[in-house]
Amino acid sequence: MDIIDSLISNLYEQSFYNGTMINPTRFFILHYIASNETLRAKYSLLEIFYYVYCLYSDNPEIAHRHPNIEIRNILKYGSTPIKQEVIQAIKNWIDDSSRSVILLEGNNLIINMDETNYSDDLSYLKIVIEQHFKNTYHVNFPKFMPITGSDLDIHSFGKGPYRNRVLYDMQYCVCCDEYRLDKLSAVHILNDNESPLKESREDRNNGVILCDIHAEEYLHNRFKFNEKGKIINISSSFIQRHMRISDKLLNSKRLEYFKINSQKKE
Ligand SMILES: [Zn+2]
Repeated sequence: MDIIDSLISNLYEQSFYNGTMINPTRFFILHYIASNETLRAKYSLLEIFYYVYCLYSDNPEIAHRHPNIEIRNILKYGSTPIKQEVIQAIKNWIDDSSRSVILLEGNNLIINMDETNYSDDLSYLKIVIEQHFKNTYHVNFPKFMPITGSDLDIHSFGKGPYRNRVLYDMQYCVCCDEYRLDKLSAVHILNDNESPLKESREDRNNGVILCDIHAEEYLHNRFKFNEKGKIINISSSFIQRHMRISDKLLNSKRLEYFKINSQKKE
């Protein structure tokens, strides 16, 4: 049997009802697979976590119907509840299928490529997923929100879809720990004119969460980050000497943005 057909029959075998609540995580995982250019044997769970997170965080009307309160309030919790949610969804998928095409192996989702042949027509799979989603929940399959607008505007850009992306990693101001969502904005470490990397506008690693006060200070160049993520005061009255971004947020990609930022003229 063709793998795509097997994935589709896995989809139809599953039960998606949960009283008045809905849990579309398995739809989202399968949609991630269908969104890749070709079918692969292995998918990193880290990439799946982020994809599922973005669909929930950009579509609060869907997230609000989820049985888990942390998914309902996804922007307050970021990546933490998503990891458990995705792994549980994959286990349910395997349990619900008479012959599951997928497996969990370490930090990867594995597609059982032992199946004899496959057409690789992922666009067809995507259409089937979206149609079955609509038939099941009577709403359209959710979309990713486009990231638009000037990043100097903390009230529209700073609180728009880009903030959802950055909230995946941090849910508080990296300067002062403010955590009330209505007071938080996302800013680009490097704005459109400064960044040599073309994907930087969408990349969550090129962002930090700041409270509105610190966001204004940053956008007016009153402080910056050095190459290790330490906060360097230039002329701000709102920056204290010990302030630095938490080590756990300093992945190699974010450090690369900080490095370019630190070379900026004061
Ligand atoms: Zn702050």
